[in-house]
Amino acid sequence: MNPLRVALNALLPTRCPLCSAYLSASEIGICSACLSQIPDATLEGDLLHLGNYHGALERAARALKFGKNREVAVPLAAKLAAGITGLGWLVDAVVPLPVHASRARVRGYNQSEVIATHLARGLKIPVLHALKRTRATYTQARLDRSEREQNVKGAFAVTGSVAGLSLLLLDDVYTSGATATEATYALIEAGAKRVRIVTISRATNVRQ
Ligand SMILES: [Zn+2]
Repeated sequence: MNPLRVALNALLPTRCPLCSAYLSASEIGICSACLSQIPDATLEGDLLHLGNYHGALERAARALKFGKNREVAVPLAAKLAAGITGLGWLVDAVVPLPVHASRARVRGYNQSEVIATHLARGLKIPVLHALKRTRATYTQARLDRSEREQNVKGAFAVTGSVAGLSLLLLDDVYTSGATATEATYALIEAGAKRVRIVTISRATNVRQ
C-alpha cells in the first residue's frame, strides 16, 4: 500500500459508495464487506467478467460511471488482474474501448480508461490507446441486436501499431457485445494476434 494513500485516508476519511461506511486506511474505493459480495473473475467463452450487472457489482459500476468515483476502479481492476494471472494469459497491452468524444465530455472521463489504467498497472503491461471512434453512434439501450450491430459497424479505427500483439480489450459494461466485437474486428484487421474482451460486468439491458 502506498504510504501516502494510507496517510491521506487517515486524514480525509472517505466513504464506501456502496454502503456509506467509512473506509479504513487499508481499503481503497470499496469497503471489504461490499467487495466480498463482488465475485472473482469468471471466464465465459472469450469474455472475462466479474459477474452480472446487479447487486454490489451494479452499485460499484454506477459509482464509477455516474458518481465519478475513480477509486472504485482499483479493487475491481485488481480482481480482473488476478483472474488474468490465474488463467496464465500472456498479454502485451490493455486497450480501453473509447467512448465517443461527445459522451466523454459530458461525463468528464472515460471509465473504461480508468479501469484499463489500473488493470495494466497490476499486470505490469502498458495501456495502448489503439482505438478511435470514427463517428458518433446511438445509445445502444433501445436497439435490438441487429440494430446494435448496424449502429457500430465501422465505428472504430485503429491508431498506432498493434501488429502481432495479444491484447485485452477493456469495456466497462458488456451488453450485447456488438461494440466490443466491432472493436475486436478492427484490431484483428490491423494485425493484432489475439484480442480478449475483459469487462467489469455483463448485462442484458443496461442504459449506457
Ligand atoms: Zn461498503
